[in-house]
Amino acid sequence: MTKVYNPYDNFLSVLDKAATAIGLSEKDYILIKYPERELKVSIPVRMDDGSVRIFEGYRVQHSTTRGPCKGGIRYHQDVNEAEVKALAAWMSFKCAVVNIPYGGAKGGVTVDPSTLSKGELERLTRRYTAAILPIIGPEMDIPAPDVGTNAQVMDWIMDTYSVMNGYTIPGVVTGKDLEVGGSLGRPEATGRGVMIITMEVLEKYKLDPKDVSIVIQGMGNVGGTAARLLAEKGCKIVAVSDVSGGVRKAEGLDIAEITAFLKGKNKLADYQAEGVEHIDNRTLLTTPCDILIPAALENQIDADVARDLQCRLVIEAANGPTTVEGDAVLEERGIVVLPDILANAGGVVVSYCEWVQNLQSLTWEESDVNATLFKVMTRALTDVYHKARDYKISYRLAAYAVAIERLCVAKKKRGLYP
Ligand code: GLU
Repeated sequence: MTKVYNPYDNFLSVLDKAATAIGLSEKDYILIKYPERELKVSIPVRMDDGSVRIFEGYRVQHSTTRGPCKGGIRYHQDVNEAEVKALAAWMSFKCAVVNIPYGGAKGGVTVDPSTLSKGELERLTRRYTAAILPIIGPEMDIPAPDVGTNAQVMDWIMDTYSVMNGYTIPGVVTGKDLEVGGSLGRPEATGRGVMIITMEVLEKYKLDPKDVSIVIQGMGNVGGTAARLLAEKGCKIVAVSDVSGGVRKAEGLDIAEITAFLKGKNKLADYQAEGVEHIDNRTLLTTPCDILIPAALENQIDADVARDLQCRLVIEAANGPTTVEGDAVLEERGIVVLPDILANAGGVVVSYCEWVQNLQSLTWEESDVNATLFKVMTRALTDVYHKARDYKISYRLAAYAVAIERLCVAKKKRGLYP
């Protein structure tokens, strides 16, 4: 029987390896291994045809050691408990790597949002918010967008939470629209963070962006923004994909045209342009390039795919795109990986900026937001480089090591209650 992929096992495996690499034994980090709290909820929703459907939802709070819980809410048909647990743990580690004062959490609802009407989506969101309401709040746990959710969903969460408390509380959630307390720069923050890390890494390896070819899996908010910003830096984007399939052109795709095409309901499968060929997901991932950027879901680069990759660097814009086995193959093949908890942290960094603005009733200029993002991302990258150099370990283990140390030190200083 083939083993079912469990992303939480992936998290535990990397955690154990990284901790061992820096000389810790399990007793030193046992307190950061498991989620502090897991909530599973049933969400009854009145559908447009008058029937009632029950959806399953989760909110997992992995850690509050370094601050309130922070992390997105995912709407996807494959959402399950193990996935949300892993995503929550990765949030604690991500916030620790970039050194922002948050713990980690994640939420999810098992639903394909594209099958719901706008009214159904709103009722689902409001009822889910009501179900997790006792454990969220600006000082407790602050949700944000993730796969399948967006600013509109965050606005409904903010409204529901505020109505139930009797006054407006913008800081309960980040990634909102500007008009209701969102931050300039937040929608593109994760993609911008990926671009910043990519540019810094190119500099380190003395590569000119103009000579670099890139493949991006996923043209959603993160992949789409990264593609646009990297193309603006002069990189050649040779292949991109969305759920409908991929497109490829060795001389470089016209990303501005594709971005305009994908606005609205268009799918890449219907995109036509001179010299552009249509390819499947595996062909996309194994397309020859300098940098592969997985920007979709977990479990994309397993050992089998990893053996066939034809890139020099992998920059993980998605959460958990590489399996433990895939990672081992990449390391053996000398393919450098910039891990998810570092490379895609731009979103939560600007979420932090939004939350700070909300708590202080201030609005920042976009240039200030982007400058903060740049400072935080490059500082984190330097911390990870140093750790990798000091212990002669991969960037993934180094990023985990930085996070483990910060989490363990905070835990030690706080002590164990009672
Ligand atoms: N969902 C994003 C992530 O996985 C952003 C989380 C946040 O802003 O809280 O990092």
